[in-house]
Amino acid sequence: MLRIDGVRKSFGDHVVLDGIDLHVKPGEVVCLIGASGSGKSTLLRCIDLLELTDDGDIHLGDLELTDPALDENRARARIAFVFQAFNLFPHLTVLQNLVLGPRRVKGIGRAEAERRARELLTRVGLADKVSAYPDSLSGGQQQRVALVRAVAMDPELLLLDEVTSALDPLLVAEVLEVVRDLKGSGMTIVMATHEMRFARESADRIVFLADGRIVESGPPEQIFTAPRDPRTRAFLERHL
Ligand code: ATP
Ligand code: MG
Repeated sequence: MLRIDGVRKSFGDHVVLDGIDLHVKPGEVVCLIGASGSGKSTLLRCIDLLELTDDGDIHLGDLELTDPALDENRARARIAFVFQAFNLFPHLTVLQNLVLGPRRVKGIGRAEAERRARELLTRVGLADKVSAYPDSLSGGQQQRVALVRAVAMDPELLLLDEVTSALDPLLVAEVLEVVRDLKGSGMTIVMATHEMRFARESADRIVFLADGRIVESGPPEQIFTAPRDPRTRAFLERHL
């Protein structure tokens, strides 16, 4: 469903992505791992059209995301992106945050958007927070709302960039639990993460980036127990 072929991206003469090929199947959860600066966020940002690629193609189903003539709104309605923090609109309540996208972008009626928002909040244990403002929630609760808001758009593809890295360690588990729940519901997810345990237990596939390339990719069992490339081995030794 997501096909990345030969993607290159440089900032000035700094080559960050040097030919990335990655195909993701529907319902697959892919974890991008790699050292800081290895290009995980840049790759996600290229998929979400926040960065222009220099070369290569990205397709989402029948839509070519790298087509210069692409209607960006069509693409945006199909992809959701949640990043480290500051995902919510501070001046809107939780419920208002959740219904904004579905109403504006998808043209869903207020009653239906609110019904769905309440249902999703219940699923992540936040039904009592509908009228709360983001400021009054813990970081973990805010990120759970941010994930729910992304899902409320009913995206084909969910991109997550270090959704737990701004959180107190005690709050990380509750957010990752929501990601696991989304995986269970069949969502296709590409996520950059430093949470190796989560990646190992919950990803279908691990993709290790270094030097602008995918050095190694495979099921968690293989990558974590028998990495083939010395760079993967060195990275995992530092991070496990
Ligand atoms: P981290 O684990 O720290 O989040 P990352 O793997 O997500 O790292 P990126 O944020 O993708 O890494 O950055 C890759 C490289 O690209 C870094 O060297 C970064 O400095 C550079 N870079 C990213 N965005 C820009 C930009 N807008 N302008 C210039 N350089 C950039
Ligand atoms: Mg990053």
